[in-house]
Amino acid sequence: MATLSARATDDSLSRLADDPRSAPGLAWIAKNSSWVTDQQIRLSEIPAPEFGEAARGQALAALFAASGLKVRTDDTGNVIGELTGSDPGVVLLVAHLDTVFPAGTDVHVKRDGSRLVGPGISDNAAGLSALVGLARAFSESRVRTRKTIALVGDVGEEGEGNLRGVRALVNEYGSRLSAVIAVDGPSTDYITTQGIASRRFEVTVTGPGGHSWSDFGEPNPITALARGIVKFSAIRVPDDPRSSFNFGVIDGGTSVNSIPARASVKVDLRSEDENELARLAKALQEAMAAGVKEESASSSRGGDGDYTTSGELHLDFVSIGLRPAGKLPADSPLLAAFRGVDSYLGNRSRLERSSTDANIPHSRGRGRRRRTRRRLAHPRRVVRPHRPRPRPEAPLPRRPRARRPRPLTFAPPACPC
Ligand SMILES: [Zn+2]
Repeated sequence: MATLSARATDDSLSRLADDPRSAPGLAWIAKNSSWVTDQQIRLSEIPAPEFGEAARGQALAALFAASGLKVRTDDTGNVIGELTGSDPGVVLLVAHLDTVFPAGTDVHVKRDGSRLVGPGISDNAAGLSALVGLARAFSESRVRTRKTIALVGDVGEEGEGNLRGVRALVNEYGSRLSAVIAVDGPSTDYITTQGIASRRFEVTVTGPGGHSWSDFGEPNPITALARGIVKFSAIRVPDDPRSSFNFGVIDGGTSVNSIPARASVKVDLRSEDENELARLAKALQEAMAAGVKEESASSSRGGDGDYTTSGELHLDFVSIGLRPAGKLPADSPLLAAFRGVDSYLGNRSRLERSSTDANIPHSRGRGRRRRTRRRLAHPRRVVRPHRPRPRPEAPLPRRPRARRPRPLTFAPPACPC
């Protein structure tokens, strides 16, 4: 068995690629791209919605095992295949298993010439198949490394997964980690070196509910949310630091002739700067509270004043996601390694910012360790601007019991997540 080591420079990468001991692995990759594509299709056709990655994970584990990796699935659901090194250090390559597509989506992949079309075929069956190909190339070359190479299909990257998979991996390997690389999507024209911070909330308004005719004048949670959404959407969002917001899912109500007893909306806030992100979060809370207040005031007047109201609205904020910001330093050996690979392959890539699995290792970079750990310890927070008060004259609740609210709209976000 050969043992190779390399420092991350253009010259050393060229020497490593030209080393005869690398030849079997590189030759295998050159000859077997169609096999890797087949695995991409196969994995993509196994549904892996948020919190439902297990079946795809099992298929990945079998592929890792067939390449001779030491395979296990951790308590979080991450599928880990290790090529054990001679030193304690670990180089971690992660590709997320989950997709944005809900259970029941037709995940069949079609070929359109050389183009593959299917939900999640790029994001992230492409990343998973890259790890599978890498595992086979290591197996074929019989190369042994000093550091352990850990190839992982991780869970919880999309939507409300809140990066739970990569958080668990970074916590588990801890100080043994030498580098973390997130392989996400098929592109070779950019390298994400900056993690965009994001915060996600579910904002819920509850009220007395009622009948659209006989209870007209009661405050309406959907109307209250709409008032808050309009108010927040009017605020200024800076270009620098670049920031964004999105009301992604709204849910509530049971029938067209019922005043809803509950309505909620899920909101995604992002910024290059965590202070700006905190400002947006505060503005969101204020806007939604103002929307509730306005709806309550409006309904208590009861149209021309002949109506009386007996209920009040309550507002809940629940944090459903928190991704810390972070940045790979310009002088990072890892970035130099990518530049060296680009140079060797004749590839050109630009540096990008995004919100991915890499946010977690990015945030653990120099000068940010303590702050991030503290935040990770408290990922969920509830804010209640309006507390319910007992009202002796309140009527019996009229909210429907048996029927679950159905989404009013759903729009799967585009990659990157
Ligand atoms: Zn992705």
